[in-house]
Amino acid sequence: MTGKMMVNRFMEPYKMEYRREDIPQIKDNEILIKVKTVGICGSDLVYYNGKSPLDTPDGKGPLILGHEFSGVVAEVGKMADAMGLFKVGDRVSVNPAMHCNACPACMRGEFNVCSHIEVVGTMFDGAMAEYVKAKYTHVYKIPDEVSFKSAALAEPLACATHAVERLDVKMGQTVVVYGVGGIGLMMTQLVRAAGAGKVITVARKDFGLNKAKECGADYVINNTDVNSPYYAADVPAKVAELNGGRLADRAILATGNLSALQDALNVTGPCTTVVYFGQAGEEDVLKVPVLAALKAEKTLKFSWLAPGVWDKVFRLIASGQVNLAPIITNEFSLEDAEKGIRFMLESKEPKVKGVIIVDPEQ
Ligand SMILES: [Zn+2]
Ligand SMILES: [Zn+2]
Repeated sequence: MTGKMMVNRFMEPYKMEYRREDIPQIKDNEILIKVKTVGICGSDLVYYNGKSPLDTPDGKGPLILGHEFSGVVAEVGKMADAMGLFKVGDRVSVNPAMHCNACPACMRGEFNVCSHIEVVGTMFDGAMAEYVKAKYTHVYKIPDEVSFKSAALAEPLACATHAVERLDVKMGQTVVVYGVGGIGLMMTQLVRAAGAGKVITVARKDFGLNKAKECGADYVINNTDVNSPYYAADVPAKVAELNGGRLADRAILATGNLSALQDALNVTGPCTTVVYFGQAGEEDVLKVPVLAALKAEKTLKFSWLAPGVWDKVFRLIASGQVNLAPIITNEFSLEDAEKGIRFMLESKEPKVKGVIIVDPEQ
């Protein structure tokens, strides 16, 4: 397809440009998508700061950011067309972490650790534009019940879902979720869907903790603000108090806060599992009391990206088991994408997740 489109291109740290450009030309193995909604991810904010969060070559512009998005198919490349996989107008979302399918990791189905992974919106142009292209192998049709706004959050939900699968929740268990950003609020709902009997969400801010209650948390604990009605200085003691004198069976982290990870090891009892999913820094090092962990036979896991969960993700949204509406707190136009990024980065106002409405027709 030829023609012009509006984009909001990241040029250099702290500088984006709203401008007219050519619509990208697709190759035989690609699909052109007319963008509806894009999520603003924490990693977009890091990129805007001039750092590359995903080990990409430079972390510098010019680059169109945006890897969490939904839209409609505008043009189908020859390969997908020959298989009859897509037609113009199909409602879709994209798995932006595009694996190669040919390396040893991919041969084992460990697509998240593919050594040739290419990420839309960090290694090449993403979705803060009217059109974006992606490999047909990572374009997924979405069910009618899933809105474009919800589908734009499918990628972080996929990451949260993979992490919760690794948590291995058993029916009736008590689960502690650390963090009330978008992913933490998704996990609060997902652990319930996975069978948790009691869900306790821990974070630093009451705004997010109230959101967690809206998302189904039985109890919330503020571990920082002494003026909060939810405040507890000793989180493990508070969890035991809320849980009939017992520590939790599972703990999952959607925060980069290292002391929360340390705390999670103490909030769980013997023979339990802790899963870490957060934006860790290069200098972050965890101290594990080895003898205590050994005698308690603890399992500590890390979770990265979202292999093999996308079909489940769309069903979780369509069934209502996960409700993404309370998570989207701020909406911006494509023209105001930079304003949106700045707001998410700098504003002290309570907020969870910002999205860019590229096409007002949702
Ligand atoms: Zn993201
Ligand atoms: Zn691979």
